[in-house]
Amino acid sequence: MTGAKKPHVLVVEDETSLATLLRYNLEREGYKVAEAHDGEEALMLADEDRPDLVVLDWALPQLSGIEVCRRLRSRAETRNLPIIMLTARGEEADRIRGLDTGADDYIVKPFSMSELLARIRAVMRRIRPALADDVIEYGDLIVDRAAHRVRRADRDIHLGPTEFRLLDHLIQHPGRVFSREQLLDAVWGSDVYVEARTVDVHIGRLRKALNIDGLTDPIRTVRSAGYALDDAYMRESERGLRAITNA
Ligand code: CA
Repeated sequence: MTGAKKPHVLVVEDETSLATLLRYNLEREGYKVAEAHDGEEALMLADEDRPDLVVLDWALPQLSGIEVCRRLRSRAETRNLPIIMLTARGEEADRIRGLDTGADDYIVKPFSMSELLARIRAVMRRIRPALADDVIEYGDLIVDRAAHRVRRADRDIHLGPTEFRLLDHLIQHPGRVFSREQLLDAVWGSDVYVEARTVDVHIGRLRKALNIDGLTDPIRTVRSAGYALDDAYMRESERGLRAITNA
């Protein structure tokens, strides 16, 4: 992170061990961190501390995360404050409701710390481009967006321009599944007519370029759904460093 002011993240999590872990990792990434352990405290700190982003647990005592989200969205000062919700696995309906209520993204517990940090960076890039990182790291992958260079496991990966844009899009939303149509819109543009099968061809080339020396395939094919930069690959490449929690 560069820039005059450190981006400021408010962590709202009632499990103190997870809150501490989040703070530790965020501070190490160069963020200024405030912690709230319930919804009321979260609303107070959102007003007082003016964070740039909130990581908000769904399951909080008394005032739920979803209610905190709704209230933040209803106030003029915090209406546009980016919110990433932490939700428990299997609560698809809740997650959709969370996005409806105005969360910008959600991440499912148990999550890998690197994936959360990548999501935070992606949101930061959208809202504060001046602070954005030109270099994105995910697992053993490094994408240098300014130099248009990609490295994996300390080796240069040569990609064509379309494969580069595909990887750049996937790495900004790690773990998320994109349909072929969504990838076409994001990479080729919605005004260009390209067959969905073209996506498969370029994903194939990207895979081939990335899968050197039998390293794990970072791209996951989700049958009849699309593609994702895989978080299982992520967890594997993190090995002992992973910080996974079910709190
Ligand atoms: Ca909780």
